[in-house]
Amino acid sequence: MTAAAIPPGSTIGILGAGQLGRMTALAAAELGYRVAVLTPEDDAPASQVAALTIHADYTDEAALAHLARASDVVTLEFENVPAEAVSFLESLGKPVRPGSRVLAVAQDRVAEKDFVRSTGGGTVSYEAVDSLKALIPALERMGRPAVLKTRRLGYDGKGQRIIAHRDNPVAAWDGIGGKPAVLEGFVKFTREISVIVARGLDGTTRAYVPVENRHREHILAETIAPAPISRGLAEQAEALAARLANALELVGLLAVEMFVTDDGRILVNELAPRPHNSGHWTIDACLVSQFEQHVRAVCGLPLGSPERHADAAMTNLLGDDVNRWADFLKEPGARLHLYGKAEARKGRKMGHVTRLTPRTDRR
Ligand code: AMP
Repeated sequence: MTAAAIPPGSTIGILGAGQLGRMTALAAAELGYRVAVLTPEDDAPASQVAALTIHADYTDEAALAHLARASDVVTLEFENVPAEAVSFLESLGKPVRPGSRVLAVAQDRVAEKDFVRSTGGGTVSYEAVDSLKALIPALERMGRPAVLKTRRLGYDGKGQRIIAHRDNPVAAWDGIGGKPAVLEGFVKFTREISVIVARGLDGTTRAYVPVENRHREHILAETIAPAPISRGLAEQAEALAARLANALELVGLLAVEMFVTDDGRILVNELAPRPHNSGHWTIDACLVSQFEQHVRAVCGLPLGSPERHADAAMTNLLGDDVNRWADFLKEPGARLHLYGKAEARKGRKMGHVTRLTPRTDRR
């Protein structure tokens, strides 16, 4: 254990209180930590299991100061918290892991791709587009189909439009709200994979096996662990994730979403410096889950083993899917996780089910 370890019994502050915060808080409790959350939401999933909820906007400095006083270290459960909130906490001398430098990269799709390329990683072809006037020539250079995405605050396909051969680029520009954007070449991929890597305070990295992610209407529907890819490709994906985490000097978790192209290349699509939906299977199938690993990393503890004892398929329960909870409870080999959300709006992540099968010798 390093000298700077924050021992069990301490309090971990979390910015945000959704399901990722909830599952982090549960893992923290297992190691004897308390959790304090700051959230603008009422009855948030993590508030239901946290020792303290500070109910406020992320920009409320008095509330942030309260979180800093209550916590020994602060982390986050989504990367789109205002950067000022993190810099303010840092200015109070509170360790925030991951910190503002990592957020600056992960909050901006252009900075993210520039960063990946600077480390030698591959990305889709892209160009920053700050105005409708700039979009037209960029589209000429990129060719169609292309994908227009807001630089900031996009998730689950929100803030993005495909521009196909007959589509009017003006409609796409309006469709993303006319905000600074990135234009990407459309990739023909065989599959989407992700790797979650943890990096400790001492710089050690530990990666979970690459998984395959299947989306429906841009929302993650299913994760298959491990991804059915060759050993060589899996090793390449893991090494890439570790390289990115090291280059960011990140402390915590980094989820790296990637495309595997038809010709077997790996292109990084997105970075998320936090626990990730594609790592939920690790709760049931690994010795140490992504959530415990996150707690270990941000508290400066030794990282745990990401080894899996079973293969797994994780299915998100979106909207009304959650009403089938009793069926999942009856199903052999299935483990149900519900997030305590009252209202099952369409597409809302209400819970997930992990189905375990005996471990194969695939990586
Ligand atoms: P993102 O918000 O960037 O994670 O995109 C959501 C989903 O849209 C991805 O998981 C892909 O399925 C698809 N997608 C995003 N960008 C591209 C692209 N450049 N080419 C093809 N499909 C894409």
